[in-house]
Amino acid sequence: TSPIQIPYAGIVLLMGASNSGKSTLIEQLKQQQVIAEHESLSSDQFRKIVGNIDYIDWRRPSREEGEVMYQQYKRISDQAFKVMQDVLIARCRLNKLTIVDATHLQPEDRALYITLGKRYHVPVILIALDISDQTLIERDRNREHPRGRQRVKQQAHQFKRTIKGLRSEGFGVVHVIKEHKYADIQWQRSTN
Ligand code: ATP
Repeated sequence: TSPIQIPYAGIVLLMGASNSGKSTLIEQLKQQQVIAEHESLSSDQFRKIVGNIDYIDWRRPSREEGEVMYQQYKRISDQAFKVMQDVLIARCRLNKLTIVDATHLQPEDRALYITLGKRYHVPVILIALDISDQTLIERDRNREHPRGRQRVKQQAHQFKRTIKGLRSEGFGVVHVIKEHKYADIQWQRSTN
């Protein structure tokens, strides 16, 4: 199979549930020198920068606690995405590559990047990590800070619901990577 091309400049959107391996893929691309250290932005990183959120334990709060936790998280997350978007826009203006590491499970989340790509005349490609519920849950259990089974299952469900329409959303290229193919994929950076 031919390698997946990471564009010279533009936006690469990662998509996948928690534990699908988005951050791990970015680390791998850096190690293989396909991308440079500052060519990725992650929503986790910006939630830390704007709101001190390192990790939230979503497991088994009471209904009321869960609601309060979510409201606080949402306020910080909204600001985090705003700032991340500004950085992304600056990078597009300078014709730099940016890989965006966030779940991007809703069509509305993704539509923004299509708009930005058109506005700044840069390519926008999507890389979706299609990982089974079983694997996602197993990885979550083995993680230092588990996201919680419920949350992972909910995200896996959102992923499946939205995957069919992806190719008509306006991305330049869409790669949906299946779990069993992942290890064999070669990554390559375009030079212009
Ligand atoms: P989040 O959205 O919660 O940040 P993520 O999609 O970025 O999740 P990672 O942080 O990359 O996921 O990985 C989550 C866990 O799954 C880590 O413990 C990681 O070691 C493991 N993992 C990721 N990719 C793989 C893989 N290909 N094979 C085995 N384990 C993996």
